[in-house]
Amino acid sequence: ATVTPQFIMVMENAKREATRKRMKIARYTAAMEENSPVLDEMVRLRDEIASLLGYESWDDYQIEVKMAKTGARAKAFVEDLARRLEPKFQQELEAMRQLKVAETGDENAQIHHWDWRYYANQLRKKRYNVDTEQLRNYFPLDRVVQGLFSTYERIFGLRFEPVQPPQKWVNDLTLHMVLDAKTGEPLGLFYLDLFPRPGKYNHFAQFDVVGGKQLRDGRYVRPVAALVCNFTPPTDDAPSLLSHDEVETFFHEFGHAMHTILTRARYARFAGTNVPRDFVEAPSQMLERWVWDADVLNTFAADWRDPSKKIDPALIARMDEARKATIATFYRRQLAFALADLRLHDAGRYKDSRKIVNDTLAEIFLPAPEGTNFAAYWGHMSGYDAGYYGYAWADAISADLATAFRSAPKRFFDEETGMRLRREIYEVGGSR
Ligand SMILES: [Zn+2]
Repeated sequence: ATVTPQFIMVMENAKREATRKRMKIARYTAAMEENSPVLDEMVRLRDEIASLLGYESWDDYQIEVKMAKTGARAKAFVEDLARRLEPKFQQELEAMRQLKVAETGDENAQIHHWDWRYYANQLRKKRYNVDTEQLRNYFPLDRVVQGLFSTYERIFGLRFEPVQPPQKWVNDLTLHMVLDAKTGEPLGLFYLDLFPRPGKYNHFAQFDVVGGKQLRDGRYVRPVAALVCNFTPPTDDAPSLLSHDEVETFFHEFGHAMHTILTRARYARFAGTNVPRDFVEAPSQMLERWVWDADVLNTFAADWRDPSKKIDPALIARMDEARKATIATFYRRQLAFALADLRLHDAGRYKDSRKIVNDTLAEIFLPAPEGTNFAAYWGHMSGYDAGYYGYAWADAISADLATAFRSAPKRFFDEETGMRLRREIYEVGGSR
């Protein structure tokens, strides 16, 4: 199986170009022969459904209930953002290309689709002197969990209490009750399932176990959420140590759990994260910014071997610069996927997914290896179809939301702004 963390580790670190290329081709041809015709058939049927329902296209049908409203508006947003990122994207490609020239001695070296993760990583290491592996020592799991809990408790006026799970699907599962800190009102429960095991979902996600809703007799069913994570398990010599990326993802997914649990929407249809899908990521994407703030991090992060050692704020600042150093590359890739998705689902019944995806990647990002079809195993195409643009759309909103905290008196710990988020976004959900 092609597993994402291993894939990324190879793509970021494999010095041999041939290895990176082979890996990329393996991933971009996974299930290609079987799935390409299936996807094309799905696209055809979707167009048929849309036209039977009186829509111009599947993307218009899918997007009508979202913030963007029409496929054309979503597409215009994506194209505009891609265009405005062009100068920075070209600069970044050139910076990566220079590294490749230096490494290979080939004056004409080019950055290919299978190169960008490797050279982006080299750029971070060389120019910004950021060793992300070393940073793990500051993020032992227990500290991160406690730090994350107290951050969320503080911002949203909550209290988390451990409770005994009535049943466990794995032995080290924990269950926690969420209460309003002032009134003591129980608001819901969340499970933490922290470590990988065979057969387990291999990403990191928040799932609703029980959604919130009001019953006929007026009582409210408080929600239950589960956070399914895959952190590195502890060893004999060291505790479970998280990467900064994982800490960021944890803050993100925990935001979804809050969205699920803090709901007061009357109908299940609008409760919790049942909000327009091009909005749902915005609050969580905003909460990722907490882990880029040394003041927030140093409330909990400390070297597990000597907890008096805290993270040097200058390192966080350098990491943030390093992140921005290849951010246009990151977004151009994301926007290429978004545009390919919209082009697959705009008007027209017979689409060649292979051609559309590869043409769009070449136009907006970097040409995919010849003869591949990434879309054949692109999970978003069943369930998030005509919705990929939502990541960038929500990110734009999250940037706006974050300014509310940044300009507040207590910045990322500002309870008043936190309560506004709780009341105006989490509690009302899709019913606002
Ligand atoms: Zn998310």
